[in-house]
Amino acid sequence: LKARVAIIGSGPSGLASAGVLGSQAVVFEQRHELGGKILVSGSGQCNFTHSGTPAEFARRYGSAGKWLKHALYAHTSDCFIEAMNRNAVPTVIRDDGKAFPASLKAGDVRDALVREAKGAELRPDTPVVGLDPVAGGFLLRSPAGDEHFCAVIMTCGGRTAQISGGRPDGYTLAAALGHGIVDPHPALTPVYAQPHPLAELSGISLEAALLLPGAKPSKAPRGPLLITHFGFSGPLILDHSRDIRPDDDLALDLIPGGGEKLTSALVAGGTAAVKTVLLRHEIPRRLAETLLQLAEIPPGLILAQLTRAGRERLLDLTTRFPVHVGRLGDWREAMCTAGGVRLEEVDSRTMASRIVPGLYFAGEILDYDGDSGGYNIQAAWSTGRVAGLAALQACRNSNS
Ligand SMILES: Cc1cc2nc3c(=O)[nH]c(=O)nc-3n(C[C@H](O)[C@H](O)[C@H](O)COP(=O)(O)OP(=O)(O)OC[C@H]3O[C@@H](n4cnc5c(N)ncnc54)[C@H](O)[C@@H]3O)c2cc1C
Repeated sequence: LKARVAIIGSGPSGLASAGVLGSQAVVFEQRHELGGKILVSGSGQCNFTHSGTPAEFARRYGSAGKWLKHALYAHTSDCFIEAMNRNAVPTVIRDDGKAFPASLKAGDVRDALVREAKGAELRPDTPVVGLDPVAGGFLLRSPAGDEHFCAVIMTCGGRTAQISGGRPDGYTLAAALGHGIVDPHPALTPVYAQPHPLAELSGISLEAALLLPGAKPSKAPRGPLLITHFGFSGPLILDHSRDIRPDDDLALDLIPGGGEKLTSALVAGGTAAVKTVLLRHEIPRRLAETLLQLAEIPPGLILAQLTRAGRERLLDLTTRFPVHVGRLGDWREAMCTAGGVRLEEVDSRTMASRIVPGLYFAGEILDYDGDSGGYNIQAAWSTGRVAGLAALQACRNSNS
């Protein structure tokens, strides 16, 4: 009789583990739908990975990137794309590097991962409600009854778009086994600004740089910024929301790299309107008008009439636009969970628990979170493969 491995969760990490373990795996999924979050990802199109080398990938997970290196180098985005192709899902990589199924249907990615898990026993509508270490493995409790497994891979995901139905979530199950949990909080989430003088400009997007509290302006990350009716979003904000807290004072450079040129243009004098100079520096028209208003500069003012104080107010607003963070988006808005099972307690080369023998973790339940652009599903898949391979080896050893 083959030793069986239980996988808790059928997201990209759980299905990736099942793809390695095949008929040795039993996948428990509390929902009726397998891979439910894959279906809503990328607005239903599933941006499942991104172009780039493993080294470039590793820079997309904040301080956890180093820990993820083994998984990202061993199971790359090319391997993921290949897995899609061998399961009859052609893929496309957009100019911005984001990879999607060519059909733009998230269901195709989910179905390919299910096909790849051929042989595994898939059990939807089956929540795991308890997990006890016993001799030679675990006793796992679910509505299907109490069952023995030689190893367990926890791939329960994070707190976004999650249903718990009052049952213990993955963090609770892991904590009950002795694992430390870094307080989960929403990531890849927008910023609510307080006050928000740009609210009327909702929908405008532009390239900007973000100055985080205490960070050097020369290190300010750049990227697309979206002004919303409540504050700011777009990859520049979403990708750095893991480093932002309520009540932080941030600043936005609305012409990244262009501050000096704008200063020279504004001090040059002459008959050009100040507004025209802003437009020449690629500041969207409505934003330029609002910046002039906030700097108390009349709309038709020409450079020769611009006072030094007015110029400084305008430059300040343009290159260091102040944003006070009222709050961050909540679980309904976040696309990812920061925090989770402590990485120090998990071996990054095998995803094995350093606390409970035979227990493995993969995916978003772990204390990492990636940038937007396909990095989260890729990390879930890569860590899921690592955990699957290690559990397979461990069960083979215990059989022999
Ligand atoms: C709206 C939205 C859009 C997103 N878009 C993208 C995108 O385009 N690209 C990208 O890379 N990332 C995206 N993400 C993030 C990405 O979906 C997740 O990071 C990824 O799905 C995590 O995979 P996972 O396998 O770790 O967990 P999940 O996909 O969350 O899967 C975990 C599964 O475990 C099940 N489970 C939990 N507890 C139990 C239990 N006790 N018993 C049985 N089953 C259990 C859950 O029901 C769930 O199905 C998006 C997220 C959201 C919310």
